[in-house]
Amino acid sequence: MADTLIKVDLNQPATSNENVHNRWHPDIPMATWVKPGDDFILETYDWTGGFIKNNDSADDVRDVDLSTVHYLSGPVGVETAEPGDLLVVDLLDVGAKDESQWGFNGFFSKNNGGGFLTDHFPDAQKSIWDFKGMFTSSRHVPGVEYAGLIHPGLIGCLPDHKLLAEWNERELGLIATEPDRVPPLANPPFAKTAHMGKMKGEARDKAAAEGARTVPPREHGGNCDIKDLSRGSRIFFPVYVKGAGLSVGDLHFSQGDGEITFCGAIEMAGWVHMRVSVIKGGMATYGIKNPIFKPSPITPNYKDYLIFEGISVDEKGKQHYLDVNVAYRQACLNAIEYLKKFGYSGSQAYSILGTAPVQGHISGVVDIPNSCATLWLPTEIFNFDINPSSAGPVVQNFKGIDMPISPDRKK
Ligand code: ZN
Repeated sequence: MADTLIKVDLNQPATSNENVHNRWHPDIPMATWVKPGDDFILETYDWTGGFIKNNDSADDVRDVDLSTVHYLSGPVGVETAEPGDLLVVDLLDVGAKDESQWGFNGFFSKNNGGGFLTDHFPDAQKSIWDFKGMFTSSRHVPGVEYAGLIHPGLIGCLPDHKLLAEWNERELGLIATEPDRVPPLANPPFAKTAHMGKMKGEARDKAAAEGARTVPPREHGGNCDIKDLSRGSRIFFPVYVKGAGLSVGDLHFSQGDGEITFCGAIEMAGWVHMRVSVIKGGMATYGIKNPIFKPSPITPNYKDYLIFEGISVDEKGKQHYLDVNVAYRQACLNAIEYLKKFGYSGSQAYSILGTAPVQGHISGVVDIPNSCATLWLPTEIFNFDINPSSAGPVVQNFKGIDMPISPDRKK
């Protein structure tokens, strides 16, 4: 078995682990070094560092301090890797920690993070998903069970100083256009809750004040939340610093395209077994600005879907011009309304769309004024028939079963 180069103890705070960090900064020292061709295992916390618990209250989802995320394992230095190279990462396998065979999904309060459908689901809610081998099901969302498409939501290499400065400049510029927006347009650096790995003293404080937050995907990859970046896939990352500095975290047991619920997919603590190699000068050779990847040879084999269309006309009937975001939102809302006819609450339906291997497609972007997005719902994950028929939906008896909800406390 490969060596486990980074271990995490789920009974200890993530901030006590020097091989973990929650900001992107070129000065974070490598946690460990490997050679091209090596395979090794990194353990990871869930993205919140264990804040969300396996219980029947959404208070933790409501109260979580989002300035603390994401807790990433690394950076791993790769010998011979230099700026301009491509780092090749094979995700040989990904799994949940033995002592933690469960994950969570939830919706943040609109006042603390929000989500894709936050105007429709403004309160914190949570569902817990149990793992049985490669399958998952939830005591809060009955009637579905499906195979995990296990993947890291977040993986990438350290930026150099120039790239970090670009990120901060453009994101602070965006925030300045509407500084009081709730939820905010972006998250600026925030030193108070930065965890900078092994860094200490003044150098640490300086880096903490300028380190990029981990929420958005960027040129280096990062928090892309691509469900198809699953175990068995091969990724080619741009390298910006000597040694590359590969970090990974935010493992998902399963996720629908878009990770629409934001808190998040089925989030879990776990481990990643990976192998690395280097393509010298690969960024220029292949014109690479953002990572590219090859999919896994093994994915859940759902073949039958019910596909919901959405167009860029919003809930109030307002016409938008080729807006794919609006169109995908309509496809999601259409699927939720449909599933409610079978006995689900809107929250349960939303949770299914955020966690199951749902596909999202940009179907048309030229037919002015409407773009068309489609949401592909696998029918085989349900233990009853969800197809339309002239007999009408067979309403399931889900009474008394729902996701815990924790409305904001009165201020
Ligand atoms: Zn996640």
